[in-house]
Amino acid sequence: MSKNVVIFGSIVQDLISYTERFPRPGESVRGSAFHAGAGGKGANQAVAAARLGANVTMIGMVGKDMFGDSNIESLRQNGVDTSGVGRSQEKHTATATITVNQEAENSIVVTLGANLDLLPEFADKSHSLLANSHLVLCQGEIPEAANRRAFEIARGNGAKTFLNPAPGDAKMDKSILSLTDIVCTNENEAEFITGIPQTTLEDAENAARKMLEMGPQIAIITLGAKGVLLAQTLNSKPDLKLIPVQKVEAIDTTGAGDCFCGSLAALLSLDGNLENVERATRCAAKLAALSVTRRGTQASYWKKGEILEKFP
Ligand code: ATP
Repeated sequence: MSKNVVIFGSIVQDLISYTERFPRPGESVRGSAFHAGAGGKGANQAVAAARLGANVTMIGMVGKDMFGDSNIESLRQNGVDTSGVGRSQEKHTATATITVNQEAENSIVVTLGANLDLLPEFADKSHSLLANSHLVLCQGEIPEAANRRAFEIARGNGAKTFLNPAPGDAKMDKSILSLTDIVCTNENEAEFITGIPQTTLEDAENAARKMLEMGPQIAIITLGAKGVLLAQTLNSKPDLKLIPVQKVEAIDTTGAGDCFCGSLAALLSLDGNLENVERATRCAAKLAALSVTRRGTQASYWKKGEILEKFP
């Protein structure tokens, strides 16, 4: 039986318009297609974890509007327990208004709306969900003080804490790393946290070592098609491994990082302890690589049944 994974984080409604070129200021252009989908780093990670069969609870905040209804419904349909999702009194459900041009470049406006009401007091209100979990996973799309409070409650009750400080911000409060068991970043976020510019594998190794010194027992840097760098403290020394991923035909890499984090959280909860983090990391890297072979964000995440069918 899977232990409970709590995802404490953002829920965002994606509104995507496809057009030949971006409009200039004051100009209106015709779009060729439109797609509305459930998103947000927290919700994406919750869906990735639940599709692998983990027992997942989402703690988040939406508005009292139709996007709030549809995002909660989408989480439910993916098997996520939404009893921890609150409704903001005044703020609308967060939106990401995305325009994609014919070169597949995008321009995005994110309005965080109700996510900004995910405050430390809401973590306190969610005390029993956090305290009864095995692992709590937070990202960087909600107020930092709330993540810190969620981790304090988790730690105080024996749950493991997993931080994915995305999207990166050099101004982030790095002291949360002292409350973190597992940190997972991409190369940009690793640079923001450590101040070490990221170009080579050696830069990533130095950043991973530095992150271990900041608190976590496990530091992971995802490196896109190059795979994943896993660093852990073993016998009081840093132990680093580059985990390559199979070559795939990448169609859409959006949300690959969320797929990796959600899958890793699920696998660690299914397995039950952090000792097997290397095996779980290898598997999460494979699942994230599979996700880039499909279009979309949540739509690209593989379900347990599909994986068993394809790789019996
Ligand atoms: P995003 O912001 O798009 O979600 P990210 O920058 O957070 O991505 P990446 O490091 O690009 O995260 O990718 C996460 C993981 O996804 C990688 O470690 C790898 O396992 C898989 N992945 C991403 N791109 C590719 C690719 N082109 N081929 C194979 N695997 C990939």
